[in-house]
Parts: sequence; C-alpha cells; structure tokens
Amino acid sequence: TFLTAFITASAVLSLTAQNPAIDKRVDDLLKQMTLEEKVGQLNQYTGEWSSATGPITKDGDKQNQIRTGQIGSMLNVKGVAHTRQCQEMAMQSRLKIPLLFGQDVIHGYKTTFPIPLAEAASWDLDAIELGARIAAVEAAASGIHWTFAPMVDIGRDPRWGRVMEGAGEDPYLGSLIAKARVKGFQGEKLGDITSVMACAKHFAAYGAAVGGRDYNSVDMSERMLWEVYLPPFKAALDAGAATFMNSFNDLNGIPATGSVFLQRDILKGLWGFKGFVVSDWGSIGEMKQHGFVKDGKDAALAAIVAGSDMDMESRCYKNNLADLVKEKKVDIALVDDAVRRILYKKFEMGLFEDPYKYSDVKRQEAAMNNPEHTKAAREIGAKSIVLLKNENNVLPLSKETKTIAFIGPLVKEYRQNLGFWSVELDEVDYDKFIVSQWDGLQNKVGKTSKLLYAKGCEIEGEDKSGFAEAVSIANQADVVILSIGERRDMSGEAKSRSDISLPGVQEELVKAIQATGKPVVVLINAGRPLVFNWTADNVPAILYTWWLGSEAGNSIADVLFGDVNPSAKLPVTFPRSVGQIPIYHSYFNTGRPAKNENDLNYVSAYIDLPNSPKFPFGYGLSYTTFGYSDLKLSKKQISKGETIEVTARITNTGKYAGEEVVQLYLRDKVGSVVRPVKELKGFEKIKLNAGESKVVTFVIDNEKLSFYNQKLEFDSEAGEFDLMIGSSAEDIRLKSEFELL
Ligand code: BGC
Repeated sequence: TFLTAFITASAVLSLTAQNPAIDKRVDDLLKQMTLEEKVGQLNQYTGEWSSATGPITKDGDKQNQIRTGQIGSMLNVKGVAHTRQCQEMAMQSRLKIPLLFGQDVIHGYKTTFPIPLAEAASWDLDAIELGARIAAVEAAASGIHWTFAPMVDIGRDPRWGRVMEGAGEDPYLGSLIAKARVKGFQGEKLGDITSVMACAKHFAAYGAAVGGRDYNSVDMSERMLWEVYLPPFKAALDAGAATFMNSFNDLNGIPATGSVFLQRDILKGLWGFKGFVVSDWGSIGEMKQHGFVKDGKDAALAAIVAGSDMDMESRCYKNNLADLVKEKKVDIALVDDAVRRILYKKFEMGLFEDPYKYSDVKRQEAAMNNPEHTKAAREIGAKSIVLLKNENNVLPLSKETKTIAFIGPLVKEYRQNLGFWSVELDEVDYDKFIVSQWDGLQNKVGKTSKLLYAKGCEIEGEDKSGFAEAVSIANQADVVILSIGERRDMSGEAKSRSDISLPGVQEELVKAIQATGKPVVVLINAGRPLVFNWTADNVPAILYTWWLGSEAGNSIADVLFGDVNPSAKLPVTFPRSVGQIPIYHSYFNTGRPAKNENDLNYVSAYIDLPNSPKFPFGYGLSYTTFGYSDLKLSKKQISKGETIEVTARITNTGKYAGEEVVQLYLRDKVGSVVRPVKELKGFEKIKLNAGESKVVTFVIDNEKLSFYNQKLEFDSEAGEFDLMIGSSAEDIRLKSEFELL
C-alpha cells in the first residue's frame, strides 16, 4: 500500500498552486530548509494545561525545540503574554518561521455560547455564524490563530458523548451550520486580525462509532458515507475551511489517519482541498494500537502517505520522518507538500510580516470585555432553548407571580452552564462572569417575586434527604421551576454513556415535586438527548436548556417569562429508550412496515416499544401557534434541470409574536436504491406578529432530487416525489406530489 507514496507525490504537488506570490515565498523558504526543519513544521505539541505557570516554561526541552525550529505549531498556549513568549522563542530559530497557535475554541473563547448541538437547535444560521465570529474575535485578540472547530460529524447516537459538539443528525442542516461556523470563525478572509483558521473535524465518520462508544470502530457503506457523513465536510470546504482534522476511528478497517481514500482520494484529490490536515491528538501513533502498523516509524510512513500533514502530539513524524526520507521510504515530495501547505497558511495569515500580529494587549482587553458579546450570548442562548411541552399554558410565567420555588442541583451552579469544551482562561473568575440560573431569575423578578431555593438532590447518587425541604418550599410557592440534568462532564469527548436516562434520583425528585399539585416547569440541562419518559408524560411544562454558556441564567429567564418566545427545534431525534438507537427521521422503510403502534403482526417493530421517537427531529413548541395553508407548486411535472417553486402561507394564529421554522421534506417514492421516507431539503425561520401571515418560498432543483445511485453517481432519477411541509418531521401540515420526467 505504501507504494502510493511515490505515485501520488507529483499529483499532489500540482494541486497546491494558489496565490502565485505566496507560492513563490513558500518555495523560496522551502529551498532554504533542512530536512529536520521541514519535519519540524509538521510537528505540533501542547503547552501546559494550566497557563498559570506559563505555557511551556517548565519544559526546557520543548523550549529548545522551538528555538531550533523543531516545532511548527503549539496548541493549548493561549493569551497574549504566553503566545508572545513562545513566539519569541521561535524568532530565535535559524529561519524564524513563526509558530501557529491552535486551540479548541468550540463554542466561545471567554464569552461562552451554547454548546454546538444547542446552537444547532436554533436553526438560526445568522446567530450561529455570529457566535463563531465573536469567538474568533476574542480568540484572535489573544494570540490564537486557529480553532479546532467546527466539528461537523453527523451524530445519530445520543450515547456518543460528542453528539454535544456537532449539529445533530441531519446532513442538510449540518451542512448549512458547518458553513455558517466556518464563515464565522474565518470572517472576511484569513489574515484579518479577527480571523482564526477553522478546522473541519473529524474526517471522517467519527460520529458513527459502533455502540456510540467514543473512539470506536466505524463500519459503514460507502453510500451512507457520501450521502450522510461527508456533506457537512464538503460544505465546510466550500465555505473555505483552512484546515481539516482527521479522526481516531477506523473506517471499514482503515484508521482515518492512515486512509489514502479519505485524505488523498477524496479530500485532496476529488475535492481539491488546498489547506492542511492535522492529525487528531496522537492519532498517528495510535495506528499501532489499531493494529494497522507495527511501530511509530510505520505509523509515520502510513500517515504521510495518506496525507496527514501535521502530527498533533504523537511525535511519530519528529522521530521518524527524516529517517524515512533518508532511507528512501518516503519521497521528499510528500514531506515538501505537507510543509508547503502549512507554510502557505502562515504566509496567508501575515505571520511572517508580524509574528505577534494576533497578540495585542489592548485588543485582547477590549475583545474580552465587550458588552455586545455578552448580549449576543444571551440572545443565542434563548434561541437555543427547546420548548418540549407546555400544557395548560403554564408558560410563560407571569412577572407578577408572588412566590417561585427554584429547585434542583443545577440552580446555583456556575461553570456547569458552560458545558464541555469551554476554554476556561485562568485569569477569568468564571463564577463572577457566568450568570447562574438563580442569578438569571433574580435579575428578572428578584425585586417583585419571592424566590425560594432548595437543591433537592445531587446530580448523581442515591441521597434523597433533600427531598423534604424541596417539597416544603414547593408547597409554599405558586409555581415551581426544577432544574435537573447531566453534569457538564457527562457529555463530551470520552463521555459516552450506555444509559442516557436522568442520572441519580433526579426523576424521583420530579415525582415528589409533581405530587405537590403545584404547576411545575422542568428545565433539562444536558449535552445530548436524554430519556426522561416519566417527566415527559407527567410534568406540564418542559424546556430543554442543554448547556447555554456564560449567559445561561439570563437566557433561561428570558424564555420563562416570555421576553423571548421559544423558537428552537430539535436537531436530533429523542428516543423513548436506548434500545431504539440509532433512531433518526430519514430512515428507510422496510418491506414490512408496521401500520400503527399496535401492529405487531410480523412487521418491523419491537414488541415492547413503539417505533416512533419520544420527540421527533425538527420538533419544538412556541408560546404561540402557527397555521399552514395555501400550498402551491409552480409545476407538478418537470424535466431534469427544471425547478419547481413551492410556496406556503404561514400564519401566527396565537397571541404572541413568535418565530417558526418551516421545514420542507421530500421523498423519492421509487429509486434504484431505497430512499429515505423523508429527507430535509429546505427550511426557513420566519418571524410573525400575532395574527400576521407570510408566504415562504422554496425552490426545488435537481440537486435536491439527486442521490447516490447504484454506481455511487450523484444524480436524480425520473419518477414521483412526495413533498411535505411541516413544523417537525412528524408534524406534516401540507402535502403534495410532483413528477420528474
Ligand atoms: C479531540 C479533538 C481536539 C484535540 C485537541 C482530541 O482529543 O478529539 O477534537 O481538537 O483533542 O484538543
């Protein structure tokens, strides 16, 4: 297999030509570099986890390596002071090639936005782009050049802890969000001082780990890969993503990090990607544990051949690549290509002109204390909250409510609201900076209502000794708000769970409070869809609040009291039980579909559980209601290449102004390969005052009708299509049909 090293080298070189002026500078520099200096550019290390002691000041060896040009990039070195300190070391090296500073800026830098899955629930592409933009402004002002985001992995298994980091289950929604995030991070163009390079990760299919267990193997048909898992990556690339990260998993037996198919054939070949690929943390070396290579040297060989350009933390390139070239096992052209791609970005970002360009104390100070950022986080937070249930119009709460009991283990928490992957700068006192849920309620009605608090129980554990106090304050209140869920470190990397129910005795606390007969509103904080059937079936009002970031408390209070009307929709299907997983809206029909939930007569069903989800994809309520009418198709028959204009009138039929996400689904009734019962092909989020109506328009073009056929060609086929417009994947309000001739 490694023969490809020589075959692909020349093909690869011709692909990198971009801006001729930069290409020339890259070439000139490359000519001056020793083999060891070249390998150095491909080498990325981490700084100390805590920057309290200085980034890498303790590690004399790393310092030396920077000074001698053996390191091309650092991650986890943040802040003007520390990045500057490292860059000064790089400027002592022979060729003074600046370092790139990378960081996981996933949902905010200092100002923390909702976790990515929560933001995806907003279906608000402008808001999502803005969140990424602000994160970039803050990060780029404090020395960061590059974020390891967005994660664009499709996630269809809520056991997988990293479902929190993506945009959910759907390739169409996921692609648009991928694009919005890349645009947000990179801004106008690379090189602007508020731009950080984006990194589409994890290439590829990382989200499909068997059993939802993080890092696990992935076995998937090529059609599924092209149709579901790759589109968000392509969208990120089209939006200009400067870098890609490969992934820990093997795909059909080949570790992604060593996959020629993924990185050379698809990414750099077919798609013509001109940026560089960074490995995931240690993933080059981990090919040994996979049993794909016998040692670090073979790992380096496999990775460079496959097109992994930068080695994050495995040291396999540093320890072996020069020898591999000298022994003529690796064509120097492959190394040169990887170095070129990285140097190109350093030039493009203007780091050779000014290596300290992104490290400016004043700009850092201003970016980190910008009230506009806080305001945006509060707004995006409120846009991400999903109203799952609102019987008897318990919500919105009246600001005149006399006594409110706020109960639960998450009420007075600060950092919990940040969720996984918060940056956590040492110099920030987050307990002062974050608005807890209690603080948010105080801010909203602290002066007018009497607020009572009890913790009730911990998130985990069996202790119910706090129930009595919780029940007692509930009895004194006019309404109870109950904040429960996961701890923030229960979803995220390496946080897969086999049981996704509410941890500990929390659901028993819900039962105890519900038994008081008071109106109850439950807030569920989590990084994934949880299973909470009793709560869902018995409590009148439920808000899914995920992890909303530094303004969480204010965002939640805005929604509770109706200053913001909830408009979020689930970007992922909520199962009734772990046993239904994987469950998603765009499934295939079987030859034996069940007629209804009681139909168990040799059909594809469980005998102990309906097939339908607890809450479907695209679902989310509002304090108002929307009517759908007047579906019109400009044509009912088209030939290939023609388009259909579809219009529908949406009317706010309730009492409050609100926003609705109008969703368009298509079904190709008969295909040369089986087609999903429903595919999201368009959506529009519209704002309507009470009584107001608007017409939304969708255009159906050939791309929306196409799929990967038996030969894996992306094309449409003549035949009939169902067209569905609705308020969720299961709440279809308008239906029609058309035919492709
Ligand atoms: C994760 C990546 C992350 C990297 C650097 C890895 O363990 O999988 O998503 O960017 O660490 O922190």
